[in-house]
Amino acid sequence: MSRLFVDVDDTLIVRNGRDWCPNRIVGEFVRAWHAANPDGAITVWSMRGPMYAARFGGNLLRGIPHRAMGKAQIVPEPGDLFIDDNPYPVFASATVHPARLREYQEANHG
Ligand SMILES: [Mg+2]
Repeated sequence: MSRLFVDVDDTLIVRNGRDWCPNRIVGEFVRAWHAANPDGAITVWSMRGPMYAARFGGNLLRGIPHRAMGKAQIVPEPGDLFIDDNPYPVFASATVHPARLREYQEANHG
């Protein structure tokens, strides 16, 4: 089963001065990923913990099934994809930086 892990700060949301705003590119990517992988598992996670992840996941990924948790040093399985501006080294090799997401999408989906 495919799994997608999405970080919150500076990934699902981005700084605009002192405010945090939704990162539309990431939100759209997650929606497209879900459409392409309807049986896939989406996790929104954060160093700030599960409640924080749940808050932004619930707001920004409304209608997309996902779970929320605190970020953990999990070892990637084949097929895992991580979107994260600052990944743990254990899954860095399976991570796309949010600023590179468009480029990744174009390379992988035409
Ligand atoms: Mg981050």
